[in-house]
Amino acid sequence: MSQKPIVIIGSGLAGYTVAREFRKFDMETPVLILSADHGGFYSKPMLSNAFATGNTPASLLINSAKEMAVKIKATIRPHSRVTSIDSSSRTLELQDGEKLDYDKLVLALGANQIRLPLDGDGTKEILYVNNLDDYHHFRGALIKKKEIAILGAGLIGCEFANDLAVAGYHVHVIDISSHPLGRLLPQAGGFFLQQKLEAAGVIFHMNTTTRRVEKLGEKLQLAFSNGQTIEVDILLSAVGLAPSISLAKATGIKVNRGISVNQVLQTSSEDVYALGDCAEVNGKVLPFVMPIMHAARALASTLANNLTQAHYPAMPVLVKTPACPTVVAPPNSSATGEWHLKETQDSLKGLFQNKENDLLGYALLGEATKEKTLLTKMLPPVMK
Ligand SMILES: Cc1cc2nc3c(=O)[nH]c(=O)nc-3n(C[C@H](O)[C@H](O)[C@H](O)COP(=O)(O)OP(=O)(O)OC[C@H]3O[C@@H](n4cnc5c(N)ncnc54)[C@H](O)[C@@H]3O)c2cc1C
Repeated sequence: MSQKPIVIIGSGLAGYTVAREFRKFDMETPVLILSADHGGFYSKPMLSNAFATGNTPASLLINSAKEMAVKIKATIRPHSRVTSIDSSSRTLELQDGEKLDYDKLVLALGANQIRLPLDGDGTKEILYVNNLDDYHHFRGALIKKKEIAILGAGLIGCEFANDLAVAGYHVHVIDISSHPLGRLLPQAGGFFLQQKLEAAGVIFHMNTTTRRVEKLGEKLQLAFSNGQTIEVDILLSAVGLAPSISLAKATGIKVNRGISVNQVLQTSSEDVYALGDCAEVNGKVLPFVMPIMHAARALASTLANNLTQAHYPAMPVLVKTPACPTVVAPPNSSATGEWHLKETQDSLKGLFQNKENDLLGYALLGEATKEKTLLTKMLPPVMK
C-alpha cells in the first residue's frame, strides 16, 4: 500500500513555508498541497505597495503552482477547495466530492476579510484585497478612475492609501478611531503618521463610520455617521481580517478567535496542526510574516517526528508607508506600563516601559526608525 501523504491545506506563505522547511528534514515522505486558489507563490505584503515598487499583478507572481511542485517535491492541486475533514478516518473531502487520505494534516487556511454590514445599493461594488486574484481585479477597476475611498485606517488601509496617493489617485480614508493604526500605535504616533500621509495627499475622515453606500450613476456616494457625504469612483474595504475557522469548527476541532493550537502547533485533534493567519497559538493571533516563519520551522521539525515548540522573539512590524517610515513592536496585551514619547519635526519615538523601566514595546516613526535594531534587542520575546 502506498504511503499516505502529509496534506497541507493552503498555498499561502504558511503552507508553502512549512512544506519547504519539511523538505530540509525529509525528501521522501509524500506531501500534497491543496489550494482553493491558483496555488502560485507570491508575496502578499507586496500587494499594498505594488505601485511604489513598480509591480503589476503579473510581476508579483514569483512561481506558478507547477514550478512550486518541482521546487519542493510536492504534489500541488490548485482550485481544490476542502469542504470537510473526518479526523477519525483521516480523510478529507473536496468540493467535487473526491475523498483523500492523509497521514498528518496541516491547516494553513489564512484569514477572511471582515465585511461591514452597510446599507445601500452600492455595497455590492465594495472591493476587498486579500490575495493576488483580488489585487488583479482591483487594479483593473482602478483604470481611468481617480477618487478612491478606503474603509479602515489600519496597517493595510494606510499602506494602500500611501501607495495609491503616490500613483496619483485622490484617496480618502475613513475610520471610527481617533487616529490611524489605532491598534498598533499610541495616539501621538497615529497623529504623526496621519500628518505625513496628509502631506502626501491622503484625506482622513476619523472618528466616524460609513453608514450607507449608494450608486449615483458611475459614482458611489458614501454617507458617514457624522452626516458628511463624499462621492468616489472606487471603494476599498480594509477593516480587518478574521482567521478562517469554519472548516476546523465543522470538524469539531477547537476554535476560539482562530484555530486553537498549542506551542507545537497541534490542534485539539491528533495529527492535525495549524499555523499562519488561521491559527491562534497559545492564545495569540498574529497575522504577520515573522510569526509564520518561526511557526513553520518548528512545525516542519514536528512533522519530521522531532516534537518542537514554536518560539517567537520580538517581532517588530514594518509599516510600508514611504511617506512616513514606521516600525512598531506593540506591547503584549497583558503588559502594564506606559508610553514615553519624544517628538520632533521629523521623528517620533515612543517607548512603552514598565515601572522598572524595562522596554516592553516601541513605536518608531520617521527618522526614529534608525533605532530599530538597537531597541529590538532590548525587547522581551513575544512567546518564550
Ligand atoms: C495587503 C496586505 C499587506 C500585508 N503586509 C504585511 C507586512 O507588511 N508585513 C507582515 O508581516 N504581514 C503583512 N501582511 C500579512 C501577511 O501577508 C499574512 O500574515 C500572510 O501572508 C498569511 O499567510 P497564510 O499562508 O497564513 O494565509 P494566506 O496567504 O491567506 O493563504 C491561505 C491559503 O489557504 C487556501 N484555502 C483557504 N481555505 C481553503 C480550503 N477550504 N481548501 C483549500 N484551500 C483553502 C487559500 O486558497 C490560500 O491558498 C499583509 C497582508 C495583506 C493582505
